[in-house]
Amino acid sequence: MSSLTTDVDVVIVGGGPTGLTAAHLCRTVGLSAIVLEQRVGPQRSPAAHAINARTFEIWRQAGLEMGPVLAAALSPDEAGQVHWVTKLGGEVIGSLPYERQGDEMLAITPTPLRNLSQHRLEPILATTEIDVRYQHRWTGAIDHGSEIIVEAVSPDGPTRFNAKYLLGADGAGSAVRRSCDIEMIGPRSIQSFVMIHIAADFRRLVHPESGVIFFVVDPSSAGTFVSHGEDREWVFMVAWDPEAQPIDAFSTEHWSGIIRSAMVEPAAPFEVLNVSVWHMSAQVAQAYQQGRIFLVGDAAHRFPPTGGLGLNTGVADVHNLIWKIAAVEAGWLDAAALATYEDERKPVAVFNCEQSLQNAFKLIEIPIAFGFTQDIEASTHAMNSVLADDVGRAGVVAAIKNQAIHFDLLGLQLGHSYEGPLVIPDGIDALILDEPARDYVPSTRPGGRLPHAWLPDGGSTLDLIDPVVPTLLLASGVERPSELVEFKVVVAECPAEIWRDAFGLSQSHCLIVRPDQHIAYRGDKSSWSDAMRRLMSAPAR
Ligand SMILES: Cc1cc2nc3c(=O)[nH]c(=O)nc-3n(C[C@H](O)[C@H](O)[C@H](O)COP(=O)(O)OP(=O)(O)OC[C@H]3O[C@@H](n4cnc5c(N)ncnc54)[C@H](O)[C@@H]3O)c2cc1C
Repeated sequence: MSSLTTDVDVVIVGGGPTGLTAAHLCRTVGLSAIVLEQRVGPQRSPAAHAINARTFEIWRQAGLEMGPVLAAALSPDEAGQVHWVTKLGGEVIGSLPYERQGDEMLAITPTPLRNLSQHRLEPILATTEIDVRYQHRWTGAIDHGSEIIVEAVSPDGPTRFNAKYLLGADGAGSAVRRSCDIEMIGPRSIQSFVMIHIAADFRRLVHPESGVIFFVVDPSSAGTFVSHGEDREWVFMVAWDPEAQPIDAFSTEHWSGIIRSAMVEPAAPFEVLNVSVWHMSAQVAQAYQQGRIFLVGDAAHRFPPTGGLGLNTGVADVHNLIWKIAAVEAGWLDAAALATYEDERKPVAVFNCEQSLQNAFKLIEIPIAFGFTQDIEASTHAMNSVLADDVGRAGVVAAIKNQAIHFDLLGLQLGHSYEGPLVIPDGIDALILDEPARDYVPSTRPGGRLPHAWLPDGGSTLDLIDPVVPTLLLASGVERPSELVEFKVVVAECPAEIWRDAFGLSQSHCLIVRPDQHIAYRGDKSSWSDAMRRLMSAPAR
């Protein structure tokens, strides 16, 4: 039995996308971190695929080399559409664009949304630059107030870590959360699905209609195909009751039959790689923090995947938290300010959860437009009749078009804004948007993400922001204020045209931007030091 205790700033339980991102961010801000992951290596089966603009921006700031990350993503040409089909390879009844992936997005983000499968992403995130301990299962922690003793078991026996903070990034079933007796609020299992992961080249089957999601409407084989590379890997998901029908009771041939029945004949070849069950939940943790323990990612919230927000929200959670921990450790932020992590991030999770749930329920409009019932034979007849009739078909197409917001959530990618002690409002109200989940209007209003604009050197305005301490951002060429030495702050200059035209600011303005690229203060530059003092003495809620 090992009795060695390792000292470390942050122990992160869980080497999924949230935990791995947390480790990269710790490295960026100078905190030591160890990731404990119970699996033998990165995840091998697909789950998330929509990686949104903000997530890429965060990885970019965390110093990840973006070349390999983006190279692992599908091109917008291949993964830019969602289709409703009778069967895979059959008639396409209606289609919608899958999020905004085009070059026009480069005006508002350096890194537009892409489809990048989680099982290809995790090995890229698990670089040697961070300390990931596979086959280490977290077993418990004792919070001593000023430190936490963290215990894990590995093939070599029990291990102990002496940490300042513990992050529960251990997913939906979070043992860390349960050990804190923190409840999840909301329905735990709305519906269960079986996910059949296959190796297949379906290019000829689906062309010319490339797409990332194909909803099969045929009542005898209804389900959802997700492409993780149309020439390589797919998953097919169908509603399933694992308690009534444990998946282990079924043979590979059974799952193959389900896939075959969901595509037109003759069936294209494929190989079943894995079969798993997942539960659709809509829950947010009652609390995100207990002392020095923080919940992040799916440990803190579980959304229906209809919106592609789970992974993305987890990455933004740790982006919000890690710089604050570093600031507390560096002594320029009071530990009470760590409570702003929950105050800022929980409302985002609640909003994302509600939107994902709405998206899931709204999909029912399509079977309703077809007139489907529980009776498969009658429903098949209804499908054929509706598709043969112009009015009936128009009703289904309208129901499909009505799903547009589900696949167009730019507002949720970039638009969230924080309030509380680490943001100083300037009295100007936020723009009222018709569809806040969908619409994004760049703004320098305090609380929001600094707008992106391209710099003359090819970088982004986001690159002007220091990842460790606040950045005092000024129009280029203006006189720098005094009192700089008093504060942990870096000064950066923004090209005058961007300052004026994109940000709508005058030369007398300054911005104080937090390390997470959210604006803390907008106002006259003569008042910047008062604003800094106010931020640094951020009171507890
Ligand atoms: C079908 C499907 C499609 C999805 N699509 C999207 C999408 O397009 N976009 C999106 O943003 N999200 C999507 N999601 C959600 C996304 O997969 C999750 O939100 C994401 O995996 C959460 O990441 P995480 O790191 O917080 O948790 P997880 O990925 O669950 O990682 C937690 C890790 O903790 C480890 N662990 C657990 N307990 C312990 C322990 N005691 N000790 C050590 N390690 C432990 C686990 O082994 C696991 O590796 C989808 C989900 C599903 C099911």
